[in-house]
Amino acid sequence: MGTNGLGTTCVQGGYTPGNGEPRQIPIIQSTTFKYNTSEDMGKLFDLEASGYFYTRLQNPTNDMVARKICELEGGTAAMLTSSGQAANFFALFNIASCGDHIVSSSSIYGGTFNLISVTMRKMGIEVTFVSPDCTDEELNAAFRPNTKAVFGETIANPALTVLDIEQFARTAHAHGVPLIVDNTFATPVNCRPFEWGADIVTHSTTKYMDGHGVGVGGAIVDSGRFDWMANAERFPGLCTPDDSYHGIVYAEKFGREGAFITKCTSQLMRDFGSIQSPQNAFYLNLGLESLHVRMQRHCENGMAVAALLRDHEKVKSVHYCSLPGDAYYGRAQKYLPGGSCGVVSFELKGGRAAASAFMKSLKLAAIETHVADARTCCLNPASSTHRQMTDEQLAAAGIPAGLIRISCGLEDAEDLKRDILQALEAI
Ligand SMILES: *Cc1c(COP(=O)(O)O)cnc(C)c1O
Repeated sequence: MGTNGLGTTCVQGGYTPGNGEPRQIPIIQSTTFKYNTSEDMGKLFDLEASGYFYTRLQNPTNDMVARKICELEGGTAAMLTSSGQAANFFALFNIASCGDHIVSSSSIYGGTFNLISVTMRKMGIEVTFVSPDCTDEELNAAFRPNTKAVFGETIANPALTVLDIEQFARTAHAHGVPLIVDNTFATPVNCRPFEWGADIVTHSTTKYMDGHGVGVGGAIVDSGRFDWMANAERFPGLCTPDDSYHGIVYAEKFGREGAFITKCTSQLMRDFGSIQSPQNAFYLNLGLESLHVRMQRHCENGMAVAALLRDHEKVKSVHYCSLPGDAYYGRAQKYLPGGSCGVVSFELKGGRAAASAFMKSLKLAAIETHVADARTCCLNPASSTHRQMTDEQLAAAGIPAGLIRISCGLEDAEDLKRDILQALEAI
């Protein structure tokens, strides 16, 4: 698919049927696969031949969809996982283990923040958080001799900050480690982090890639560019023999292009089993077929809603990186020139009470803890996900009581604007 445009890859990438084969990807709903001889199967277990033996590790339907996402990101290898959480955990744990350290942007999804700062810490992996707006000096100072990776989100959920991917990649490489970028909100339609120096990309496919609120899922894509062997002492898991696979050295046997994903599949997926069901992979592929068309509409609606809110007297502030005047507008113009996403956040002047009155009056936008759906939805963190915090604590955390996050769907912009205006009237 190398010479095709992104839209063509969305529609046709990852799977090319042969003569008389199904036009749509087949759902291989089978836990296991049959072989004629034990020797044939043995070759798979030794990683001497590629093929399928058990769906806890790999499934052909999943691999077709992973291949499409790989082509969209411009990578060399990819895999699906059962969730975005599993994708980020696997991407980090594939190269960092007990006694290691990672550097992460502090502006990341709450679930990932918890994964890194609580659960992975319990596993003996330390983290240093840095502001996405840190200077080179501050970023350099976060590294330790045992640092194994740098992590950040292209557009952070929910803060909507934009990562300076080139700065983070340059600094990571100067310290001999890869940059892992969670590209969930931008999607490869709006940003391809590999083009700016990122080495590994992750996704919660639950969001725009699925796009219809149907299936939880994740993906990991490798750019194939990070030279593990050049940093062999830092990455023994990739560069020294794996005793659980007869002494295979992943970086030697599978090269830069395949080592990361092969190790991730044959060790982590084998042992943790966070596989996406083939049925969900099929739904995900349906979403991907229209991703390029939908993202454009999400962005148009996001822009229309952000501009409406900016000019309204009851609104204190609006955060949308594609809106001129936004703190991240300059960075968005560089990394996301064609549009960012459909998620806008804004603060109402009347605090918690105003937010409650506003949301109660919405007719099209539903109150949900979801984002990136075809249907517009919104959330007031102060009265839901962060309701145990006082107004003072909320303000200190940068989440004012009157803050609302709205995820603009695919409806007509005029209808969304009318709905928001009448709800603002009701405050
Ligand atoms: C939702 C989300 C995740 C977690 O994904 P799940 O599919 O819910 O496990 C990770 N990163 C970002 C940026 C997200 O928005």
